[in-house]
Amino acid sequence: MKSPETRLATGTRDEGPDSPAVARHAWDPSPHFARPGDPLREAFAGRRPLVPWLGGEPVAAQALASTWAELRSVARTRSAVAYVHVPFCAGHCTFCGFYRNGAGHPSRATYHALVEAELRLDSERALRSGPPIEALYFGGGTPTELDASALASLIGSARAQLPLADGAEITLEARVLHCDVEKLRACIDAGVSRISVGVQSFDTDVRHGLGRRADSTTLLAFLTELRGLSRAALVIDLILGLPGQTMDVWRRDLETCLDLRPDGVDLYALSLHPGVPLFQMVQRGTCAPSAPVGVQADMYATGVETLERAGWEQLTQAHFASSPRERNVYNRRIKAGVDCIAFGAGAGGTHAGFSYVIEPDLGTYEETLRRGERPLARLARRVPTYEIEGHVADGIERGRLDLAPIDATDRGFCARADRLLEQWRKAGLIERDGSSVAPTIAGRFWQSNLITGLIECIRAGETREGESS
Ligand code: SF4
Repeated sequence: MKSPETRLATGTRDEGPDSPAVARHAWDPSPHFARPGDPLREAFAGRRPLVPWLGGEPVAAQALASTWAELRSVARTRSAVAYVHVPFCAGHCTFCGFYRNGAGHPSRATYHALVEAELRLDSERALRSGPPIEALYFGGGTPTELDASALASLIGSARAQLPLADGAEITLEARVLHCDVEKLRACIDAGVSRISVGVQSFDTDVRHGLGRRADSTTLLAFLTELRGLSRAALVIDLILGLPGQTMDVWRRDLETCLDLRPDGVDLYALSLHPGVPLFQMVQRGTCAPSAPVGVQADMYATGVETLERAGWEQLTQAHFASSPRERNVYNRRIKAGVDCIAFGAGAGGTHAGFSYVIEPDLGTYEETLRRGERPLARLARRVPTYEIEGHVADGIERGRLDLAPIDATDRGFCARADRLLEQWRKAGLIERDGSSVAPTIAGRFWQSNLITGLIECIRAGETREGESS
């Protein structure tokens, strides 16, 4: 993207929507227009998947090591978040695309020591140092598949090696299977301040259909005990639109959540990709169908209204808090595009304008670490508009997007985006107030479509500049 100075020099700064230059390079927003009808249920044929790294330029395999050798010595200049991946699960939940290794994998018992070695690598010292890290997240997989002492050791090592900010949020993903409150107490003693449990649904039949073994009673007993651990915030995930989850089941899921009153809850709409077992099961008719997108939209609106009525605060499109100690720092900062320092087999991170993925194969991960090297599997240069796209995603996520910073970087943006924004406003997806755009409940449900449309509009400006240079 051109700097403002360059734009002045080429005389494009004052181009309005009707100027010949804009007309010549006009971007067609109509593929992103909402359809006529009920905005909540019918605005689009489906929800667009959001792929933030789309368009990045992959580094060739033979240049990967040398490129990383240069990048790892580039000092971090801004605050970041950190992520530690634990790639073991008790079983493959049918809706999930993140399963890699079973809990019986021979590497599980020693995995924490490998990640600790990765955290200590001398060659990566510059990457680890720098401005404070605002949030540290242990995800997976299922981190609680590790033993209590292994987890506590891993948490302690991460805290020792990373420059965490005072009061940094430290989240641990947990699952009821192979876990108990004693294990979580050890993790809290080691520094965890937030425990995230993927509930998906409290309904036993729906849970069993997903491959989740714990029934509703066992799950609730576990969560109630966890709720009593006052030193850590408890957050849960619920999924809407699951097979067998009628609107009545969904309402009961919401009521159970209100009764339990965790500090935070995410309401995610089911998204089925061809690679997950549930997609095949639905195709073959071996399980109940998942809810059509219009029903998912009703479920989302019901969820938002139920939680708002109960006094919960909506922090982002999917995330709600019942108490001030729930801040959702990691997820919010990641979606806003801040850098993430990542560790563990299969983890993904970002640094110095590049995205990277750590080797997911446990054998290769271990071998590479034993040579004292970072086990990188992939590296890609991020699109030049990555930061401003993060601003768009963050604004829509949080319910208010300020267009002024985008227009300050790309003075043609507001002119290009105006037709699209007006169409969405008239369709009932957004409200506009000066340079500010706020999605309605319908717009929040379709937020990935809104973000995709705006990102395409930003990239159209980038193409235009490329054409004119
Ligand atoms: S939902 Fe969690 S526990 Fe289940 S397969 Fe996916 S990562 Fe593993």
